[in-house]
This record gives sequence, structure tokens and C-alpha cells, in this order.
Amino acid sequence: MPRILIAECKQEVSSFNPVPSQYEDFRVVRGTALLDHHRGGGEEVSGALSIFDADHRVQIVPTFGASSNTSGGVLSADSFERFSRDFLSSLSDVGPVDAAYFSMHGAMQAENENDPEGFLLQEARRLLGEQIPFVVSLDLHGILTDRMLEHSDAVVAYHTYPHVDFFQTGVRAASLLMKILTRGVRPVTARVKIPALVRGDELITETGSIRECIQLAAQIEASDAGLSAGVMWGNPFTDVPELRTNSFVVMDGDEAAARAQAIELANRFWKHHEKMQVPLTSLADAVRLAGDIKSGTVVMMDAADATSSGASGDSNAIVRELLSQKYRGRVLAPIVDPATVRQAFAAGIGATIRTTVGGAFDPARFQPLPIEAQVRLLSDGKFRSESFGWPWDSGPTAVLQSANLTLVVGTRPVSHFDRSWFYAHGQDPRHFDVVVVKSPHCEPHMFAKWCAKLINVDAPGSTSANLRSLGHTRCARPMFPLDDATKFLPVAQVFRRGRP
Ligand SMILES: [Zn+2]
Repeated sequence: MPRILIAECKQEVSSFNPVPSQYEDFRVVRGTALLDHHRGGGEEVSGALSIFDADHRVQIVPTFGASSNTSGGVLSADSFERFSRDFLSSLSDVGPVDAAYFSMHGAMQAENENDPEGFLLQEARRLLGEQIPFVVSLDLHGILTDRMLEHSDAVVAYHTYPHVDFFQTGVRAASLLMKILTRGVRPVTARVKIPALVRGDELITETGSIRECIQLAAQIEASDAGLSAGVMWGNPFTDVPELRTNSFVVMDGDEAAARAQAIELANRFWKHHEKMQVPLTSLADAVRLAGDIKSGTVVMMDAADATSSGASGDSNAIVRELLSQKYRGRVLAPIVDPATVRQAFAAGIGATIRTTVGGAFDPARFQPLPIEAQVRLLSDGKFRSESFGWPWDSGPTAVLQSANLTLVVGTRPVSHFDRSWFYAHGQDPRHFDVVVVKSPHCEPHMFAKWCAKLINVDAPGSTSANLRSLGHTRCARPMFPLDDATKFLPVAQVFRRGRP
């Protein structure tokens, strides 16, 4: 009866967010609580469990599961030390195992480690042994490092953006691990480094030009010797030495095919890379354009302060510009500002407060904006997400009304790739003339399909699609679009675990 270890570590950071993430920002479950948390759920571990549970030969060995509640800044050194100590001791506590499945994101960075996932896999190898198979599932925004590939037998990555295949990715990873264990397949991985950081609608896997790559990856996985394939374009905001786009192909033994297919995937990607940027509108033009729209809702996408990509959530840049141009329509905007929330709670519902909003975490980019506002609603900030029903928590949260401006103000950042935070606080975006959405993208039905105009705003922020504005210092250069005339010569590198 094979004993299969399961561990989880999921976090995505922006190196340009000045606020370090902490251990407390993770949801942590240990031992059987990891199974209780994921059985019947929709994430990767849930998908993997659906395969392992269905096989009576398997004994599941749950260890440590951690997922950050939302994305954020680089993990503090103390927190990473504690994190890796807890993660690794839970692996060594369970005795010998025959295989391991790791559910990871891949876009983590700590103050004292540029490749936390690679470090954890390397140390897991030392603890669990060189001989047992490791399969790792990853977000396609993960940074695929040499160390991750050296210490795993195979990686499996999401095939969808916006992501809807968490569960299926876990199914694919667990199925591959079972093939290694029971059918003796011998994974060989080819990886091609692509010097590109990309954003925008061309990466929407249903409709963008990235579809060509994803279709090929799915064909490879469906072929006789194909085990896993994909393109991981990484999180452009995790500024680490190995940040870039990667294609990879895992085949059963067939190194030549793995090389050829990984190069084909990379070439297909490179053919389209110049389109994979976001056309942005300046703040001043965006507000002028909104003023020209006489009916319907203008959605201002503020991807630069996208909390789901690791931004701090305290940008007031668009609101400030709306006020300075004396925009008269009804405005709905989200913002994180703990001190303002405390003031609102102290004053109570119905009270009018003089306060400031914005610049709570990233004062170099955002200065506090003075407002006088009425407290309309106060909440504990706990709600379930519109997209997946996940429990989210913005901490104590207030709705403030300042003339034509409705602000949902939270204590902690939550994701804004759907409308949950607005809905949870009594605000329907359709009832506003301008809505600020702090996300690079939302499912079309949420805004794009019904709004009068959608504007991608070039606001300042630690997750700006204007990548040149960020000041990368660690990733390899030259890199598109940070440098002009970046050249690409596809070279496949091969990774294979030596095992008798
Ligand atoms: Zn992602």
C-alpha cells in the first residue's frame, strides 16, 4: 500500500509592495485538518484527493497546508523561517513515504530567499529521500525555477486564466503521480526559458492568442507518452532572478519529443508576445473619457493596485483624479485603510467624520486624501467570494459616503477579481456611473459585458501593467518589455530524476 504524502504552500507576492507578508497572513492546516479542509472543496488538493481516495491501494499522509489569504508583499525573513520550519518538520514527522504531492503556487519570495518553493522542495528531498517520486502542481503565474525542476519528478500547471481549473490541476497531478507509482512511467522534463513578462487580454485562455499554446499543451498531455505540458508566464511582479516565461513538457522517457514540443510551445508563445501587453489610458484621460459617457457605468480597471496580484490596496489615485476634475457622477471605489475604518467604527453609523483615505501602506506612491464622509455601514468584513464561495475576510470594514463618492474601506486587502466585496457591503456596481475595479481582469459577465465603457487606467501601483514603471532589479535582462529588442533563441534544458 503506497503511502502518499500531501503538502501545500500557496502564496503570490509583489516585490514592489512595500509591506512584507507575515506568517499570520496564511490559512494554515495541519495533519488530518488538511484533508478536512479540502475534501469536497474545489482547490488542487481537493482534486488530488478525489484521485487518491478512489484508489483503495493508497494511504494518504497529510502534513502541512498553507495558503495566503490574499496576495501581498515579500514574506518577512522571520515568517519564512517559521514557515519552512513548520512545513519541513511536518514532513519529517510522518515517517517513510512512497511518494509526495505538493500543491504550490510558485510566485513566492521571502526577504531571505528568492525561491522559497525550490528551497522547500530541495529540503523535502533531503528529508524524504532521493528515490521517491515528487509531483508538484503550480499556478501558471508561478516562477518555474531550476531547483523546483531538479527536485521534482514532474510539474503540472493550470491551463486556464482566469483560473477555473484548480481542481482539475490537482486531478492531473495526482493521476500523474499514480502513473509513476503503478505503471512505472519515467518522466523527463524539457523546459525552455522565454525572456518575456506579459499581461493583458491575449492571455485569457478561452479567447486570447495564448489559446494556441494551451491547446497544444492539452494535446501533448492527451498523447500516449505525454504526461504534462504548459506555459507558465509567471507573475511579473515577483522580481526574482528566475522571473520570466517558461514552456515545459514532461514525457514518459522520450527526451527528444519533450525537447521538440517544449520548443514548439515556446515558439508559439513568442510569435504573439508583443501583443501580450495592456493598452493603458492615463489617469487624466480616463477621467475625461468617463465624463463624456452620459449613460451607463464606466469601469476603471486599476490593475496597478490589484490585491490579488500582490498590491497593497491603498491606492486613491483614481479617486483623487476624479475629485480634482470635479467628476459629478456616482462613484464606487474600494480601498484599504485601517485607521479610517477605526475612526468610522468609533463614530458609528450615521455619523459624519473628517478623515483621510489612501496611502496607509504605500506612502511613497499614495498620499492620504482628506475627505468628509458619512458612515453608512459597518461590518466585520467576513463574506464568501462570488466566484468560488471561498471565505474571505477584509477585517472590520466601513462604507463611507462623501458627496457623490461611495467608498468601501477595509482593514485588510481582499481580492477584487469579482464583485464580492461590493455585494457583501450592499453596493451593486450597476447603480454607479464609475466603478473602480482593482484587478487585472474579471470574468466578462461581471463588468465587461454590461458596462458602457471599460478603461484600463495607467495609475501608479506595485502591480502596474506598465511594467517598465516598476523598476525590476533582480530578474535576468534583457527581458521583454523592460528592454528594447529582446532576442529569443529557444533552447530546451532537460531535467530527469536518476532512479533505478
Ligand atoms: Zn495565477
